[in-house]
Amino acid sequence: MTHTRVLIIGSGPAGLTAAIYTARAQLHPIVIEGEPSSTTDQPGGQLMLTTEIENFPGFVESITGPELMFKMRAQAERFGADLRVTKVQKLDVTETPFRAWLTDDVEPSITADAVILATGARSLMMGVPGEDRLYSHGLSTCATCDGFFFRGQDIAVVGGGDSAMEEALFLTRFASSVTVVHRRDSLRASKIMQERAFANDKIVFAWNSLPVEVLGDDRVSGLRVKDTISGEERDLPVTGIFVAIGHVPNTTLVTDSLELEDGGYIRTGPGSYTSIDGVFAAGDVQDHVYRQAITSAGSGCVAAIDAERWLEVRGL
Ligand code: NAP
Repeated sequence: MTHTRVLIIGSGPAGLTAAIYTARAQLHPIVIEGEPSSTTDQPGGQLMLTTEIENFPGFVESITGPELMFKMRAQAERFGADLRVTKVQKLDVTETPFRAWLTDDVEPSITADAVILATGARSLMMGVPGEDRLYSHGLSTCATCDGFFFRGQDIAVVGGGDSAMEEALFLTRFASSVTVVHRRDSLRASKIMQERAFANDKIVFAWNSLPVEVLGDDRVSGLRVKDTISGEERDLPVTGIFVAIGHVPNTTLVTDSLELEDGGYIRTGPGSYTSIDGVFAAGDVQDHVYRQAITSAGSGCVAAIDAERWLEVRGL
């Protein structure tokens, strides 16, 4: 069993920024990075699935998601963070020191004075053929990140909620046309977002349309949809697909112990404080609004400073 002053769970921009800050503050953090288990769940978080990143300050010529994460990781290691590619199976934050299990053993693997949760969120995916293969090759889950690469193209946005409307409206800045593909004949989005989408000439709607396959060899060349009333299938000739059917925060470890907001995100504030003293949260696991690499990194810094001060006050 190892004891650490700070245990960081998660290795996206929030976890690794928290690692850089706490390591530089000589707190010798242990970072549990996660381990690859599916396309949308792997160490490094969602950025590992992103190609070009052009809006992370400091990289004039853009950087790829994996490259950015490798740099953050190397930076955390340089200051002595102990990074481990494995998963936390169980976390007990009901008593101190907090306890984490990396195996099925009865005894915990790690005890910690403070915990920073940075387990991120994952986009809900359609679960249709072609989706995994063409992810990041014309299929994306973030218009703010990738919209720019679809200038002059015909794009589909899947979903009928506020996220889908927001993505569709944003994408009209670049795309020739945006087809909102929705499985029903009325939107779930708020009235104001609906009105904005309806008023935009570039947006058209494919109603009662359920995606059944993402088409293309090495890049997206279309989206096959099924009419939910007639059962007929047709192909939409799009070269970009944005999936906006919702997100799920990765909170399995703390669902029963921490206060969560509607939608399941960890409730934080002030700063990164959660409902349990000594447990802090950063990044997408507590943010359903901004969801950017830079805001996530910023919140990782906040969590590191909060944890550092919290430990200091307690003489830990
Ligand atoms: P959401 O409201 O849950 O909407 C998800 C949409 O995706 C629904 O229209 C749903 O269809 C559709 N969908 C779900 N699974 C699907 C599948 N497998 N195949 C095809 N379609 C599927 O999620 P969200 O839009 O991400 O919004 C989440 C929350 O954040 C909401 O409370 C929203 O108001 C808020 N938000 C607000 C703003 C804003 O105010 N600017 C922006 C973004 C998000 P059905 O309608 O048939 O269920």
